[in-house]
Amino acid sequence: MNVKERIFEHLEELVDRVAPPGWEDDVRGYVKDSLSDVCDRVETDVMGNVIGRIDGEEKFELMFAAHMDEVGIIVKSIDKKGFLKFAKLGGIDDRILPGSRVTLVNSEGEKIEGVIGTKPPHIMEPKERKRVQKHKDLFIDIGASDREEAEEMVSVGDVGVLRGDLKRLHGDRIVGRGLDDKVGVANMLTLAELLHENEEVKPTVYFVGTVQEEVGLKGAKTSAFKIYPDAALVLETAVAGDVPGVKESELSLGEGPALTIVDASGRGLIAHPKVRRLLIEVAEREDIPYQLEVGEGGTTDATAIHLTRGGVPSGVVGVPTRYLHSPSEVLDLNDAENAVKLVEAATNEFPDALGD
Ligand SMILES: [Zn+2]
Repeated sequence: MNVKERIFEHLEELVDRVAPPGWEDDVRGYVKDSLSDVCDRVETDVMGNVIGRIDGEEKFELMFAAHMDEVGIIVKSIDKKGFLKFAKLGGIDDRILPGSRVTLVNSEGEKIEGVIGTKPPHIMEPKERKRVQKHKDLFIDIGASDREEAEEMVSVGDVGVLRGDLKRLHGDRIVGRGLDDKVGVANMLTLAELLHENEEVKPTVYFVGTVQEEVGLKGAKTSAFKIYPDAALVLETAVAGDVPGVKESELSLGEGPALTIVDASGRGLIAHPKVRRLLIEVAEREDIPYQLEVGEGGTTDATAIHLTRGGVPSGVVGVPTRYLHSPSEVLDLNDAENAVKLVEAATNEFPDALGD
């Protein structure tokens, strides 16, 4: 099986699993099982991070991280007609909510389907029709006719996601929910397999599936503190801007993984120059396409990791993705494959490039 097929196979498993921040259990189980097949040791920590480790020939420790959670929603109350009010877990744009399907997971682990309802435009005041409706004005309809019936299916505190199945578009482009950061997790699992098959892995390598990234980079903070690696690479998505109405200087699909120089205008991560240089050198040498990212928007787990204890040289390898945090994120599998190839080729060069 080639690298692209391996990544897609992992994605088919991952997109099926609902994992809002704090409720990563289903993805965690899959990550743990997959890493157990290829790592020398795998553990789950207090926060719920999964940490796999392949022992290398050298003392140098390299940490890879990808977050297991995705943006989601949580049930806040149930009204007497059986409609659910909800809060958001992570950054979801209110404009995409009305009419979206949701999948909720109750305490038994059963999946409950629903739809986010709103007053139909026909009976809205003209002023109301123009306004973006806040999530607080919307509700989830699970088909229940009253509170009692709804409570047989869900409880306050149950979580869910906007539904968006994984499908292939034209060529190697795919669409699905939560590709941020399921593609990073799929890349990390594929990388672990490749390094397991490699006879000579120089650094000791950690693969960390982190929790609660979307609500404050929390799992990255604690796992990096525990491991305190000599360097770290975060496997993520990156904001693609190759759509109508966006200036041409943004990242494009199919032109290679994004190597972060800075994100959040420097308030997040400023990639360590040695890590940045190493990734660019390896990409040039191996003829792997790449794009440089100067981001002005969000950030990643690398922001938490690089500020650990005395500091950890860190970088991000991202797969450019359109429509982030919507149920229909779109990316090109070739970018994911090239991300894995680049990171695999760079792994053994970390000790020399970063060691003293
Ligand atoms: Zn992400």
